[in-house]
Amino acid sequence: MKCTDCNEKVATQLHPYLLCDNCWAERFSKQYVNGESIPFKKLFEDNLKKRGLWIKKGESRDSWNERCASKGKTSKLLHGIKVSESKGEKTPTVGEG
Ligand SMILES: [Zn+2]
Repeated sequence: MKCTDCNEKVATQLHPYLLCDNCWAERFSKQYVNGESIPFKKLFEDNLKKRGLWIKKGESRDSWNERCASKGKTSKLLHGIKVSESKGEKTPTVGEG
């Protein structure tokens, strides 16, 4: 059974009608924030904008990805995980304070 929206992927959701995971999330995945039901992509976009990490006008996808990755690597929220470029090993570092 194929997804009735994209007609490409296999349907994994049967209710309310046949949808693949992606199409189901596009239509129905929302989060309730401050009394408002917000589609997950909009919420994600708003959060990136708040952190100055939304794509800039004229910025390439590669450049944007790199900017987000380097911000993530220094984030205390993500425990400041740094990737050693020479070995490609992840070295978790514990944030102080
Ligand atoms: Zn689909």
